[in-house]
Amino acid sequence: MSIFTKTQQEIAESIESDAVIKDWKDWRWQFRNSITNIEDFEDILNISFSEEEKAELKKTLEHFPMAITPYYASLIDISNFKDDPVFKQSFCSSNELNIQKYEMGDPLSEDSDSPVENITHRYPDRVLFHVSNMCAMYCRHCTRKRKVGDQDHIPDKDTLQKGIQYIKDNPQVRDVLLSGGDPFMLSDSTIKWLLEEVSAIKHVEVIRIGTRMPVVLPYRITDELAEILGSFDKLWVNTHFNHPRELTDSSREAVKKLVKQGIPMGNQTVLLAGVNDCPYLMKTLMQKLVKNRIRPYYIYQCDLSEGLSHFRTPVSKGVEIIESLRGHTSGFAVPTYVIDAPGGGGKIPVNPNYVISYSTNKVILRNYEGVICSYKEPDSYEPVFCDRDCDECTLELKTEGTEYLPPVGIEKLMADNEEETSLIPSDNERVSRRS
Ligand SMILES: *Cc1c(COP(=O)(O)O)cnc(C)c1O
Ligand code: SF4
Repeated sequence: MSIFTKTQQEIAESIESDAVIKDWKDWRWQFRNSITNIEDFEDILNISFSEEEKAELKKTLEHFPMAITPYYASLIDISNFKDDPVFKQSFCSSNELNIQKYEMGDPLSEDSDSPVENITHRYPDRVLFHVSNMCAMYCRHCTRKRKVGDQDHIPDKDTLQKGIQYIKDNPQVRDVLLSGGDPFMLSDSTIKWLLEEVSAIKHVEVIRIGTRMPVVLPYRITDELAEILGSFDKLWVNTHFNHPRELTDSSREAVKKLVKQGIPMGNQTVLLAGVNDCPYLMKTLMQKLVKNRIRPYYIYQCDLSEGLSHFRTPVSKGVEIIESLRGHTSGFAVPTYVIDAPGGGGKIPVNPNYVISYSTNKVILRNYEGVICSYKEPDSYEPVFCDRDCDECTLELKTEGTEYLPPVGIEKLMADNEEETSLIPSDNERVSRRS
């Protein structure tokens, strides 16, 4: 009875008068009965919108689909639904049609950095592989709204094959992120096939699955699926909890199944105005995640995707949140706060400033309490010129399989064996005048 709450009972019965606990916990039943239109939402949750509101909401639905599992809907506090974090994340809003000049369809240029359909290859050693474009619940804040839920973008097995071939052909790819959409929208057998294919590629050392299933449809994590996933040694799972209220008995049970299989779990949170833009709430969320053996990985600043301005906070809110975590709670409960660079530069960490000043042999730092201290640097440190000839180096990096990748960016400016002394934008006028 503790899993099947009163609200769940009521919702289940308003969907099907003879629905029983077994149905509620059957992910197929949940999926079949997902709430995709406003009238159903009103009926099932016993809420009503004015005709005017409804007309606006319907306009939104013409652009971005809605799907709310009965399970996720049952987490909404009906007495105050307009402020409810679950409602705000899942129920369409006319604000989504309010598009700002600086917003973009594809702010992270995922489609431009795409060598083959469904692969985004941004970083040297890892790729993002879009294996599904469906989700059990369409997050209103989704950065990939342009694609997700769109029937024209569903990858078939042929397209997936092309992605797998790309990974095979590119030995520098040692880390593959399966994302989408939600990879767990695929059938167990397709997931198994995909994982077999990718993990059989010798140079792939890590496979990560990004999924929101433990949050929005935890019953999808069946014993069978957990067992399939548990059989792949290279696998990590990253999920997407945004609010402590989402960590219910059911979601904890789903997470536990994966953890019991020995799968390391991480979490990515999106910082959202009116949902989780509160240091105290975030600390509670991070501690609850850790308690369930999920390592908080990233907090994302909300991307510049179209129609998300009502969800965005200033960057300072994210810094304030990290300020309230670092030192105040377990180090592994502190995620990295990042801005995913518009234009495709990748994730850029943003931190509070802890270094106050430097002298030639001291660094002046401050801690989370505001205590200021000096760290004395060594009086003698002989920098060793590094020519990247590791065979001759006293540090004896003689591990097999460590491939030398030439340095890029700031790393290149720092390298002893590189000539470059500056990074210059390609359209620099001053440099273009040089003959
Ligand atoms: C986030 C992301 C990755 C993974 O980045 P990590 O910092 O390693 O988690 C890889 N590719 C793309 C395109 C991404 O957006
Ligand atoms: S689960 Fe992920 S991909 Fe799906 S709608 Fe939410 S944020 Fe977008």
